[in-house]
Parts: sequence; structure tokens; C-alpha cells
Amino acid sequence: MYNKATEIIEQTKKENCRISDIVLKNECKLEEASEQQIRDRIRKVLRVMQEASESAVKKETTSISGLIGGNAVKADKYRAAGNTVCGDTVNKAMARAISSSEVNASMGRIAAMPTAGSNGIVPAAIITAAEKLGLGEEDMIDALLTASGVGQIIKKNATLSGAEGGCQAECGAAAAMAAAAIVEMYGGTPEMAFHAAAIALKSVLGLVCDPVAGLVDVPCSKRNASGVVNAMASADMALAGITSVIPFDEVVDAMYKIGKVMPAALKETALGGLAATPTGQAIKCRLAGNNPVTNH
Ligand code: SF4
Repeated sequence: MYNKATEIIEQTKKENCRISDIVLKNECKLEEASEQQIRDRIRKVLRVMQEASESAVKKETTSISGLIGGNAVKADKYRAAGNTVCGDTVNKAMARAISSSEVNASMGRIAAMPTAGSNGIVPAAIITAAEKLGLGEEDMIDALLTASGVGQIIKKNATLSGAEGGCQAECGAAAAMAAAAIVEMYGGTPEMAFHAAAIALKSVLGLVCDPVAGLVDVPCSKRNASGVVNAMASADMALAGITSVIPFDEVVDAMYKIGKVMPAALKETALGGLAATPTGQAIKCRLAGNNPVTNH
């Protein structure tokens, strides 16, 4: 069992293993299942993630409200043209993250990790890193174990809910989970993985949850794209040897405290932030009149 990053790191040192190995052992105990059974369950989740992160790239997908759609196709076409600012890998990851969020907003099948609103970040990070490194399904399952270990720590010590902690607790947590997973995939140490997670979460502390018209469309979809970029950049920093001055466990505590003092208007109530802008309000009124909006 573990409750803190420091405890996982200590266990990896004692057993000379990775974060994913500790999380897998813990899951086996909790679920009273064999390692193979746990891996097979995760394999099913991974396949859902792979499908969601590709389907809206291949075929334009519009959300139920009509508020978002077609952006994963646009992002991937732009990437394929080869003249991007951030390069091929980052643009592939963004297209995948947007795809999963468009699938979610169209009521398609996704794997919520840690939540439906932030579901695009972890899969986009893991699938893109695996593609770049030539890694296979078992490695991606390990990466999901690492990500879930980080998510468990955030859940135990803070929250993974936008309604309780703002978007820092959803897209921020997802970016932290993804950052740690990428570091392990690239052969970084458990310490590096938690530095990456800390850097990713620190970058979005205070991020509010302000879904326009109360729908997980705007700004959620694009926050998935920026969330995966945050994860990749944080992983690169940690792999370069850059450390987080504030340890991961303290960043999580800070995130929780920030969420507690955040006004209710900025915690999924759609009463503040972007939801309260003139455009956000106009969209809300138009949707209430059952008049779909096509401004992506
Ligand atoms: S803005 Fe709110 S609903 Fe949207 S992804 Fe962030 S936490 Fe979830």
C-alpha cells in the first residue's frame, strides 16, 4: 500500500523496480487477482483509449451540442502538412487528445482517466510515446499502471473532481499522471517521474472549471490538447534532470487547498470564468432554445 509519492519511491528503491511494478502488485492485492488478470483488464481499457484517440482523427465527430467537432481532423491534417510550430510528435499527441474529447462530447465510448472531461490526456501521451519509442501493448499497460498510481495518490490526498477542485484536479491531474508515465516509458527513474508529475501539476494550479453551458465541450476539449503538451514538456524537463523544488506530495496538498478556497462559481457550476463571458452566456441561451451552435 502507498498513500504518498515518497512511499512509492521508497518501495521502488527497496525492490529495485519501477512505479508500475509497485502499482501492479498493489492492484493484485486490492482486487485479489493475478498480475495477468489485472493486465488483461487494463488491456481492455487501453483498446477503448486507442479507439477514442483515433476515431475523431479519422472521421469528423461533432458533439451532441454542436459546440465542438472536427478539430481532431483539422489538427491531424495540419500536422501531416509538415509545417507545424511544435513538431510532429506534439501535434500527433494534440490531435489524439482532441479526438478522445470529441468522442466523449459526442457520447461515444471513452475511458475516463481520471475523468471523462480530461480523458484525452493520458491516452494521447502514452500512445504517442509508445509510437515514438517503438513500444508495444505491454509497455503501454505498464505506463497506464504508472499513471494510475499517480492518480491514486492525488485522489487519496486531494481530489480528481472539477466540482471539488476545479480543472486543476482534472486536466491538471491527468497531465501529472501522463507526465510520470512518459518518464517511465523513456527509462527515467521513479524520482524523475514524480518530478515530472509535480512540474505538470504546478503549471496549472488554480485552473478553474468553467464549462460553457455546463457541457464538457468548451474549454474542456482544447484543455486536453494543452494538457498533453504540458505532460510532454514536464517529462522532458524531468528527463533532462530538472527537478521540482516543491515535492509532488506538497504540490498535491497545495492543489487541494487551492480547490477548497476556489469560489463555487469556478467549480463546474458554469456560473463563472468562460461560462460567464458574453459569448458563453449567448451559447447557453442558444442551446437552451435548442439551436445548435457551430462555432468551433
Ligand atoms: S473545465 Fe471542468 S468539466 Fe471541463 S475538463 Fe476541466 S474540470 Fe472537466
